Amino acid sequence: RAHLEAIEALNPRLNAFITVTPEQALAQAEAADAALARGEAKPLTGLPLAIKDLFCTAGTRTTAASRILGDFVPPYESTVTSQLLRDGAVFLGKANLDEFAMGSSNTSSAFGAVENPWKRQGEEGTVLVPGGSSGGSAAAVAARLALGATATDTGGSIRQPAAFCGVAGIKPTYGRCSRFGIIAYASSLDQAGPVARTVEDCAILLNSMAGFDPRDSTSADLPVPDFAAACERGVKGLRIGIPREYRLDGLPAEIAALWEQGMAWLKAEGATLVEISLPHTKYALPTYYIVAPAEASSNLARYDGVRFGLRENGEDLKDLYERTRAAGFGEEVKRRILIGTYVLSAGYYDAYYVKAQQVRALIRQDFDHAWEQVDAILAPTTPSAAFGRDEKQDDPVAMYLNDVFTVTANLAGIPGLSVPAGQDAKGLPLGLQILGRRFDEETVFAVGRAIE
Ligand code: GLN
Repeated sequence: RAHLEAIEALNPRLNAFITVTPEQALAQAEAADAALARGEAKPLTGLPLAIKDLFCTAGTRTTAASRILGDFVPPYESTVTSQLLRDGAVFLGKANLDEFAMGSSNTSSAFGAVENPWKRQGEEGTVLVPGGSSGGSAAAVAARLALGATATDTGGSIRQPAAFCGVAGIKPTYGRCSRFGIIAYASSLDQAGPVARTVEDCAILLNSMAGFDPRDSTSADLPVPDFAAACERGVKGLRIGIPREYRLDGLPAEIAALWEQGMAWLKAEGATLVEISLPHTKYALPTYYIVAPAEASSNLARYDGVRFGLRENGEDLKDLYERTRAAGFGEEVKRRILIGTYVLSAGYYDAYYVKAQQVRALIRQDFDHAWEQVDAILAPTTPSAAFGRDEKQDDPVAMYLNDVFTVTANLAGIPGLSVPAGQDAKGLPLGLQILGRRFDEETVFAVGRAIE
């Protein structure tokens, strides 16, 4: 009830939720009470969560923040959300996001932009973005509208909004969480994960979200370790890599200082710092912005006005497709579809798409080499704190630069955790990121807990 009241009071301003489901939440909470009274507590019994509106929820409208899904009500539940329900969680509603998870500012939602609950000191009138695409999830957790949230990360969409909103968030290893029932953006990069107030809360949520699922052919058939226990391992004896190529020209002094602070904390806790090289880092953003739109253009072909969602009637079938897609998709989604179909088209496929796949393999190899020297990598999550809602909106490339430190983990399939670690001169939260070996979230959690 406290969370539902907070949503009622603050959601009109923050717009963190697209759909609130109070009746369902109260019914689930009552069931949780009854289970507790019977002494049948499960890992998440009664814990109120926000669900990114990219996860299909049976019987509850799921929009991907797009007009094209209209009033789509899925007949089935995503694997991740069904596991959360299995473990006793309470769902408050569906969190806002950038349309189809494409963006870094949560300004492209068909249901309106999300506001970051934080304000710059002395500039309280300026509305800041929560980051994206999981801006609703991060804003809801930061503003105490939910105890935790589900999110997805294709190129940074869990970690960047977590950093902008002063909360924790982890993108697990590709294959750790099932993608079944999550609306696809770029299937070889998409991964679900939690956003929560603390590293340990993320670990507890991930324990429920993760696990093998035969309905996702890329899901890993591996046991799920006790992530919460791993948080307490400490970092003594660990080797922490500091990648030289992440010291970008023009990196703001406060981001560099935060990074140094993180290094000092880990050293004080008994870790060894090792300078490493990830030589193909500079190609990561262009590679990502070819691979992701290519896969998106293919995944979004299914929104044709025939099978589900919005339909704009036309003169004939082709006209129906065109009218539906013209009316249903927003500007950024159309831009990605155009880029994607271009790089996949005959004559350009080898020059762009195949080349990007080759560079992606090199980026993955950079990390494989790094793991011979270090157990985890420490880097900033973002090159800046949250920016104003009116900034960067007319320059897609400036917007894409937000993702410079996050896309590498998706291209390589490795886990990445963002931890709130400091603030900028105006009091805004800043995040540090810990990257780890494939399926070694445990070390990532241990390091994250040490700098939290
Ligand atoms: N900002 C990146 C993009 O727009 C990442 C989004 C995501 O991780 N879903 O593609």
